[in-house]
Amino acid sequence: MQPTAVAPAPRPQVRVFETTVREIVWETPDTVTLVLDAGDHPRDYKAGQYVSIDVQQFRELKQLVAYFEHVKGRREPPRAYSLTSTPDEPYLAITIKEEAFVPGQTEYPPLLSPFLVFGTRVGMKITVKGYTGYYVLPDDVEERTDHIVHIVAGSGVVPNFSILKWALVHRPRLRHSFVYSNKTWSDVIFARQLAELERDHPDRLKVYHCLTRESAAPPEAPDAQLCRVNRDFLGSVIGDPNGCLVYCCGPALTRWDKKAAKERGEEPRPRFLESVREILAELGVPRKSITTEAYG
Ligand SMILES: Cc1cc2nc3c(=O)[nH]c(=O)nc-3n(C[C@H](O)[C@H](O)[C@H](O)COP(=O)(O)OP(=O)(O)OC[C@H]3O[C@@H](n4cnc5c(N)ncnc54)[C@H](O)[C@@H]3O)c2cc1C
Repeated sequence: MQPTAVAPAPRPQVRVFETTVREIVWETPDTVTLVLDAGDHPRDYKAGQYVSIDVQQFRELKQLVAYFEHVKGRREPPRAYSLTSTPDEPYLAITIKEEAFVPGQTEYPPLLSPFLVFGTRVGMKITVKGYTGYYVLPDDVEERTDHIVHIVAGSGVVPNFSILKWALVHRPRLRHSFVYSNKTWSDVIFARQLAELERDHPDRLKVYHCLTRESAAPPEAPDAQLCRVNRDFLGSVIGDPNGCLVYCCGPALTRWDKKAAKERGEEPRPRFLESVREILAELGVPRKSITTEAYG
């Protein structure tokens, strides 16, 4: 008998679709989660993927967009936001942290994130494009490893939080070490949710907080490291460098950072992602075991 050819499953298409803001959840003083109702639109994404939001759609931003396009000399591109939700949750969710304008460091004030954090209302329509991105677990992850190491900073927690929630339910053979770096305890997004997941899965999840601008560990995280993510600490978390897959997400050098440094005649100072990559190389974690997502 001839073997029956099995047609490969069609790849989900990237589509533009409308969502309605159903709920706004304050995570920290500058970060919200927007719960988005996409109606019948399929939720055929993978934990870790993102949607894009075109800034041109908001009437409230029209004059600012026109001004920025004038001074930057180019069209304002869409911004990407990782999905906080998992495909088995009933609604989509994205979590946005307001970026700050820092004189001398950032050239322009941020455009979309302040609006999404402080200007969104329940019932508002937001058109998104998705689902996109390769920052996902491979289908055969449990054949490759039993240990996922998450290394994230700031809003870089978002895709890893989704991956973690999904994998705790659907990939029972995996355990997770979740290293999360922030300036202060009040910057920590999903602090309560991460603590609850750790309590519910004591053998499969260990959360490590690194706080770079606190002088004492907060009562909620008495074991928090009061320093940047460093080599000794990561080495102890990772253990066998050949035995894990690493997912690392957070701020990285942008081409504008590199251009500005070049104009000053300096080497650009590595940001979170570059520093972690260097530490992982020193620890001997193979490059093929490392997946990164840069938030620039
Ligand atoms: C894959 C991915 C997922 C992301 N997920 C999240 C998330 O879950 N939550 C979250 O809060 N953020 C996330 N971000 C960051 C987010 O996309 C925005 O960059 C962030 O919200 C700031 O947008 P803004 O419009 O407020 O700032 P802006 O500074 O107005 O916009 C940032 C954009 O401007 C560009 N830019 C920076 N400097 C210059 C310059 N000097 N000249 C011209 N252009 C410049 C950047 O490349 C970027 O496209 C993600 C980014 C990526 C790439």
